[in-house]
Amino acid sequence: MNMNFRRGYHAPGDNWHNRGVGAESAFCHDWRCQDCQRLLGKDDGAQMRIRRKPLDYVVGFPVYATCPNCGALNAKTKA
Ligand SMILES: [Zn+2]
Repeated sequence: MNMNFRRGYHAPGDNWHNRGVGAESAFCHDWRCQDCQRLLGKDDGAQMRIRRKPLDYVVGFPVYATCPNCGALNAKTKA
């Protein structure tokens, strides 16, 4: 029995929502605004992750987003 299993994973607070759905590194393809290149979301080849505080969305395709920076409508129909 390993009694030395002590890690910082159980700290109280709001760390859990940042750990979210799946592995952070899976969503590694940037989806950027076609006009101003602002980062809109990231996809993992199958789904798109969109982080807009305080919510964190994971959506399927097609996905549409209005750029918060320049207002352009961006569409992504597949990964
Ligand atoms: Zn834009």
